[in-house]
Amino acid sequence: MTDATAQATGHRLPAELPDRIQHYIDGAFVDSVDGDTFDVLDPVTNQAYLQAASGKKADIDAAVAAARRAFTQGPWPRMLPRERSRVLHRIADLVESRDRRLAELESFDSGLPISQALGQARRAAENFRFFADLIVAQADDTYKVPGRQINYVNRKPIGVAGLITPWNTPFMLESWKLGPALATGNTVVLKPAEFTPLSASLWAGIFEEAGLPQGVFNLVNGFGEEAGDALVKHPDVPLISFTGESSTGALIFGNAAPYLKGLSMELGGKSPAVVFADADLDAAVDATIFGVFSLNGERCTAGSRILVQREIYDEFVDKYAEQAKRVRVGYPHEETTEVGSLVHPEHYDKVMSYVELGKTEGRLVAGGGRAEGFDTGNFVAPTVFADVSPDARIFQEEIFGPVVAITPFDTDEEALALANNTKYGLAAYIWTSDLKRAHNFSQAVEAGMVWLNSNNVRDLRTPFGGVKASGLGHEGGYRSIDFYTDQQAVHITLGEVHNPTFGKQD
Ligand code: NAD
Repeated sequence: MTDATAQATGHRLPAELPDRIQHYIDGAFVDSVDGDTFDVLDPVTNQAYLQAASGKKADIDAAVAAARRAFTQGPWPRMLPRERSRVLHRIADLVESRDRRLAELESFDSGLPISQALGQARRAAENFRFFADLIVAQADDTYKVPGRQINYVNRKPIGVAGLITPWNTPFMLESWKLGPALATGNTVVLKPAEFTPLSASLWAGIFEEAGLPQGVFNLVNGFGEEAGDALVKHPDVPLISFTGESSTGALIFGNAAPYLKGLSMELGGKSPAVVFADADLDAAVDATIFGVFSLNGERCTAGSRILVQREIYDEFVDKYAEQAKRVRVGYPHEETTEVGSLVHPEHYDKVMSYVELGKTEGRLVAGGGRAEGFDTGNFVAPTVFADVSPDARIFQEEIFGPVVAITPFDTDEEALALANNTKYGLAAYIWTSDLKRAHNFSQAVEAGMVWLNSNNVRDLRTPFGGVKASGLGHEGGYRSIDFYTDQQAVHITLGEVHNPTFGKQD
């Protein structure tokens, strides 16, 4: 992009950027031990606009040592839940008060539309507030055997939690892990995605201001195969919470196995949106457009396969294609932008290869290439393929961009078979006005989360997670508390000790 174009479009570097992105270890910003860095790209120009420290094993070792010290010797795990909760509320306040700055940086670094990045920043604050409240309301089980025994659960933080996160909505997804890990008294090492390290660097200042003790939060930037791998294989890290691709999850599962770590995995998806003929058609079109084109389609729960009952199929496809063509592609910083720029040229190439493949596997009814009017960067026109057969790769594989496949069905049984016909099982969206069908279908569909006549609106108390290749374990609400804590059972004798006596026989 030339200076003149930058001037005309208003796309410019955010003010007051740091001169480089560093790690944050034991309360200090530091470079990599070996001094190595990597380029961070602006997704609108694909030019490097910053350098980030590229962490390796030595940096992870230092971060884990700091986190371990803060866990074994520091105040955080021993503080009253109410005291930790106050710190978490202060973090939420700070995130809320900086939501515009966070959104500006996130949008610039990731290519997400600014209005959606702002929503994600607010959600990040909400995540902290939620766990601040939950931790003081936490109750644990006590069981009594009258006159004989009391048994109770002593819930304890586990130690150093390794948090590994992806580049889609990075700040919000980091908050999702940081909130419960810290609320429960653990210390952490965060390894954010290498495509989008900018917003993660803001956590350090926020945490310092909120009063989080030194060494509790540590951040190491770098590549998955180096920094991420060292974290997964570190013997002093008993927990790994990972969000990313299913194939990476499988690799991490194997790498963590010798250490018998606790693992939580939020992985990929290819979620179906099933539209029956009795659905509110306009609502279904609006929701399924938003469901796959919001967040640039870089959304794990995207409804990227739309299954439509034959009676309304043609009408649905026409309406959908018309509306998809009007989805506004724009510069990420513009308030009116609905689809921005994909995060990185490598990802753009991957998505575009599926767009080309789709032309051989389905009927192109909208989009189908680079968005018009954008000469640089990773702008993809919202793309819709109809008549996609279930064995097509664009039906089976996660594209993670603004690309959707539409397929017709006749009966409920066929719809269910199609919905379940992928290796993934993250989310499902069902559109029907028949109550019985709605419940029967939701209960039978292989998905960790189902939305009925609804978009992806999530109550933070509910479980979040996928089945099949979409995940392992559930987080969300008290399930996150369970993942980040040990539940030690303590048994106490009341009255007489009642064990059988050994070694006193004649
Ligand atoms: P990715 O798997 O490439 O990377 C995710 C993170 O893992 C990054 O920080 C990366 O550096 C790190 N990593 C890579 N290889 C590693 C290794 N060998 N050891 C340790 N860490 C390693 O995923 P991505 O491309 O950043 O993100 C997109 C994927 O994330 C999509 O598949 C999407 O569906 C999924 N996702 C899932 C959810 C969910 O909640 N289920 C949410 C968001 C994104």
